[in-house]
Amino acid sequence: MLRLPRFRIELPRTYSEAAQMLGELGAGELDRSRGTPSLRVMLVAGGTDLFPNMKRRQFAPEALISLARVRAASGIHENGGLSLSAGTTLTAIATHPRIRERYSALAQAAELVSTPQLRNMGTVGGNICLDTRCNWYDQSLFWRTAEGFCMKTNPEVVCRVATSSPRCLAVSSADTVPALLALGATVHLEDAAGARDVPLAEFYREDGISWSAMRQDEVLTDVTLPSAEGWRSTYLKLRDRNSFDFPIVGLAAAVRLDGTTVREARIAITAVSSRPVLVAAAATAIVGTRLEDEAIAAAADAVHKAARPLDNTSGTISQRKRASRVFAERALRSLRDAR
Ligand SMILES: Cc1cc2nc3c(=O)[nH]c(=O)nc-3n(C[C@H](O)[C@H](O)[C@H](O)COP(=O)(O)OP(=O)(O)OC[C@H]3O[C@@H](n4cnc5c(N)ncnc54)[C@H](O)[C@@H]3O)c2cc1C
Repeated sequence: MLRLPRFRIELPRTYSEAAQMLGELGAGELDRSRGTPSLRVMLVAGGTDLFPNMKRRQFAPEALISLARVRAASGIHENGGLSLSAGTTLTAIATHPRIRERYSALAQAAELVSTPQLRNMGTVGGNICLDTRCNWYDQSLFWRTAEGFCMKTNPEVVCRVATSSPRCLAVSSADTVPALLALGATVHLEDAAGARDVPLAEFYREDGISWSAMRQDEVLTDVTLPSAEGWRSTYLKLRDRNSFDFPIVGLAAAVRLDGTTVREARIAITAVSSRPVLVAAAATAIVGTRLEDEAIAAAADAVHKAARPLDNTSGTISQRKRASRVFAERALRSLRDAR
């Protein structure tokens, strides 16, 4: 049995207090005294990803700042668009009637995360801030010690997926993120000194270690989505076991229709690189069309070109790349035929 390392827990009542604590307790500082280099302090929301990672000693923080008691941490507000507090559970999102109707890709993606138990605890904020994953990283400390670690936990070691790679190739694997990207989301971040908004399209980086633009002393407080008037969207996911696995390819597509003509489109893929990718060329291929088969094929070609999976999850590279094309075709046909 893997046990959690010892840690202290802090229970702030507001996001500002949480941000203040992050600053005071040394967010961003590495502690090398506990068997694996780890951040000294971390946030925890539902804990569905962080606690298993701590059991495997991917992280061993001295202190956790729990967001469980933050007032207003969860909530879904309609205000022309949609505002989700970061602590809103995946179950609340997946079962919300208006989200299911208007932001279908998001409800579908939330519903496809893991198992009911984990969706009841897991939050949208935790999903957006999900650590990147890799076959060489998501292993116990015992396994990683025997194998000699990898770049993600020891910068002096090579990336074991591609030993000549100058960067870590761990893969972005959060299901709600491509849906949020396709729906045009913005995230709101707060630190001890103030707050800022970042379009989700600018939040992620192509680097398995420094995978986001969020600083260690910031808390994600809310996600907002613009009005879904005229938009249709959907999310498709490939995984090993449909009962609970992470995506090995995920694709979200959203189109804004004027009659039968596409006026705007966003197509995003995940689990095929260190960041989720908005495929601009795929959107360009369908804007101005009526989603005829040729236009859909051109968009699917663009998705296939943009998907660059590596040998760091289950499934083969060719299977995952081919699935990205098939999903693009299926998603766009379903949006066309739903008229
Ligand atoms: C068996 C298993 C299967 C899984 N399957 C899937 C899957 O299919 N798809 C999928 O997407 N995920 C999956 N997960 C991962 C996880 O359950 C979800 O991603 C969930 O949404 C994480 O949310 P959480 O609130 O539990 O995050 P936590 O575990 O609490 O936190 C995750 C990370 O986010 C950070 N964080 C949390 N909230 C904030 C915040 N407000 N601001 C800043 N940082 C924050 C934490 O510091 C931590 O680094 C799976 C996990 C397990 C154990």
